[in-house]
Amino acid sequence: MREIFVWPFAIAVLLICWSESFAGEAALKSKNVIYITWDGFRWQEFFGGAQQTLIAKDAGVSDIDGVKQRFWRESESERREVLLPFVWKTIATRGQIFGDPAANAAAKMENTHKFSYPGYSEMFCGFADDKGIDSNKKFPNPHVNVLEFLNRRPGFQSRVAAIATWDVFPSILNQERSGVYVHAGPGPIPGNSLSDREKMLNEMIADTVMLWPDNQLDVITMQVAREYLLKHKPRVLFIGLGETDEWGHGRRYDRYLHAANRADAFVGKLWELLQSLPEYKDQTSLVLGCDHGRGSTIRDWTDHGAKIEGAEFVWSAVFGPDTPALGVRSDVNVTLSQIAATLATLVGEDFRAASPKTAAPLPGVISTKPAQ
Ligand SMILES: [Zn+2]
Repeated sequence: MREIFVWPFAIAVLLICWSESFAGEAALKSKNVIYITWDGFRWQEFFGGAQQTLIAKDAGVSDIDGVKQRFWRESESERREVLLPFVWKTIATRGQIFGDPAANAAAKMENTHKFSYPGYSEMFCGFADDKGIDSNKKFPNPHVNVLEFLNRRPGFQSRVAAIATWDVFPSILNQERSGVYVHAGPGPIPGNSLSDREKMLNEMIADTVMLWPDNQLDVITMQVAREYLLKHKPRVLFIGLGETDEWGHGRRYDRYLHAANRADAFVGKLWELLQSLPEYKDQTSLVLGCDHGRGSTIRDWTDHGAKIEGAEFVWSAVFGPDTPALGVRSDVNVTLSQIAATLATLVGEDFRAASPKTAAPLPGVISTKPAQ
């Protein structure tokens, strides 16, 4: 009698343990990751919405009443929600946000240059290299980046892409060596079999007034990225937007706010699109971030760089089917260099195994251990 009861029980326990360990290894729902950056967008507006001292003529705002009506609200939570509704109504309630000083949680870059190439290199390669990466010139990045790593992993080959407003990304991501598809800057969409929408975008690219010699308008890059996604269904897609930085340098706080508001709407619409596509629905993670901050006074909010105090502080947000809804993370300090391993870990890959200098993923962004 004893044996009859004990053995089925023991086998059942073994089966449960075995299936649980198996489920633990393969439980990531996320198969794709989309990473979007807003160049030089300050944590002050990200967490606090429009800043009263900068809605001023000295910050380039001529229609003060118009900007106030659109972006000023009495409380900080209302202000940030009216500026970035997708971030604060959706990501903050269903995902995680890093870098809020009010929550005793700084997000900081490790490089000391505080400008774009070193910032993007740090976030994509997983570490700062102050000596080797010290300018915004178009030199090939010597370090392996996470997009390049993923592009070589089984199941990801030729399914990793970067589409960005700034024309230095082919160098930052070392397009030649990495083999990652990079479309960046003000030039047309390449290729012979373009869709009707891509052909129309190329007409607009040819006829749009160029505001900056090395940067495309965000709206064009957003649409180019959308078409790329629909046509090629990448598993890993980076979209780099740049107008927040350009209007900041141009001392146009009104347009800086408007650019951020449009970038937020773009992320919202993209998320909606992803949920309508079977390849992406419920199996895609989204990461938002920026490459550097800016100054904090009415004089230097326009600038960033080694001498600008506070421009080392950034922010980031993570959202997706494996990310616990912890909202604004408190009492946790993170660095820009943690983005690289985060992107890999969200699709079950370990970038640190291939690139030991890479910083650890952002803590707590996935609820299960990824398959090794
Ligand atoms: Zn800049």
